[in-house]
Amino acid sequence: MDAQQFKEFGYAAIDFIADYIENNRKRDVLPSVEQGYLQPLIPDHAPQHGEPWQELMKDMDRVIMPGITHWHSPNFHAYYPTGHSYPSVVAETITSGLSVIGFNWIASPACTELEVAVMNWLGKMLNLPDVFLNCSRGPGGGVIQATASEATLIGLLAAKEKFVKEYKSIRPEMMECEVKAKLVAYSSDQSNSSIEKAGLIGSMTMRLLPSDSDGKLQAEVLRAAILKDIEKGLIPCYVIATLGTTPTCAFDDLESLGLVCKEFNVWMHVDAAYAGSAFICPEYQHHLKGVELAESFNFNPHKWMMVTFDCSALWVKDAKYLVQAFNVQRIYLKHKHQGDAPDYIHWQLALGRKFRALKLWFVLRTYGVEGLQKHVRNHIQLAKYFSELLATDKRFNVFSCSMGLVCFHF
Ligand SMILES: *Cc1c(COP(=O)(O)O)cnc(C)c1O
Repeated sequence: MDAQQFKEFGYAAIDFIADYIENNRKRDVLPSVEQGYLQPLIPDHAPQHGEPWQELMKDMDRVIMPGITHWHSPNFHAYYPTGHSYPSVVAETITSGLSVIGFNWIASPACTELEVAVMNWLGKMLNLPDVFLNCSRGPGGGVIQATASEATLIGLLAAKEKFVKEYKSIRPEMMECEVKAKLVAYSSDQSNSSIEKAGLIGSMTMRLLPSDSDGKLQAEVLRAAILKDIEKGLIPCYVIATLGTTPTCAFDDLESLGLVCKEFNVWMHVDAAYAGSAFICPEYQHHLKGVELAESFNFNPHKWMMVTFDCSALWVKDAKYLVQAFNVQRIYLKHKHQGDAPDYIHWQLALGRKFRALKLWFVLRTYGVEGLQKHVRNHIQLAKYFSELLATDKRFNVFSCSMGLVCFHF
C-alpha cells in the first residue's frame, strides 16, 4: 500500500468512525448473532493474494459490525464505562503511524519526556502529594501502564522484592524462596477480580477480608488479620485499598488503613481504577485523605476520563523499588544517555511500550481541566437523577448511588 492509497483508506476509516459514533444510538446495544457466527463469513485460510482496501471496509459492515456490542451507545449501561473521544482516537492513529517502542529515553525521547510531563499534569489535577510526581526531584514518579490489573501486579512484585531484600538483611540465614513463601497480601472481599489474579500470578497469598455493611474494609479487620498472620510466622507484605469498589463504588478509608500499613511496614497500593477520575474535581478529593501513606496509587483515565483503552496511570513514591524489581540489564539495552529521565522499561512488565502519553496529552489539551470536570460532574448528576426516578417508583429499591453507579433491586 502506498501513501496515496493509505490516504484514501484512512479518510474512509475516519468517515466510518465518525458515522458510527454519531449514529450508534440507533443500533441495538447487544448484537443478535449466535456464537460461532463469524467463521462461516470468512475463508478458512488467509488470502494468497492481497486485496484492495475497499474489500476490507465492505467486510467491516458484513462481518464485524453485526458482532459489535455498542459500548458507546447512550443505551449501554453494563459494566463500567470505557473512555472514548475523538482527540483520543486521533492520537491513537498518530501513535500507530509513528510506531515507536519507547522503552528507554533514546528509543524516542519525546515518548518518555511527554509521559513524564503529562503524568505530572495529571497528578497535579488530582492534587496528589508532590512525592508521587516526577517533578518532585525525589524518587517518586508516574508512569502509564496498560491496565489497572498490571498496576496492581507491579505494586505487588515491587513490594515482594523490597521485602525479600529487607528481610534477608535481618535474617541472612533464610533463603530467598523461604521468605517469598511467607509473604501475604490483603484486600477486601469487595476488591476487583484483578486483585485476586495479581496474587495468583505473583504467587502471593491474597486474603480477601470481609468488608463492613457499606462495603469498606475496616482498619481493625486488617490489623487483626495481619496480627494473626504474624503469629503464624508469616510476613505481611502488601495491602490493596480500593477507592470505588467494583460492586458498589464504595471507598475504603486510606488514612486508617494506611496507619495500619505503616505500623507493620506493609506496602499500601491504592486501586482507584474507575473513581479516580472524579478526583480531578476538588469536591471529591477528600477521598484521597491519607494517600500520602500509600506507596503506589493507580487509576484508569481509560475508564472515565475520555481516553481510549489502554491508559492506566500509576504513581509510586519511590521508583527505586520498581527499578530494582524489574531491572535486567543487557548490553543492547545500554545507552549513553542514562541519567535523569526514567528508562520506563524498568517500570513495567514488558520490554516494548506504546506511546500512550500522546492520547492523554491530546485529551487534556482538547477538553482542559474544566471540560473533563464537566464530563465527570455530568455523569454523577445523571446517576443522581436516575436514582431519584427509581425512588419515586415503588417497584424499585435503591441500595446505593455513588459517583456514576446506581445499585438497585426490584
Ligand atoms: C475496572 C477496574 C479494575 C480493572 O481495570 P483494568 O484496567 O481493566 O485492569 C480494577 N479495579 C477496579 C476498582 C476497577 O473498577
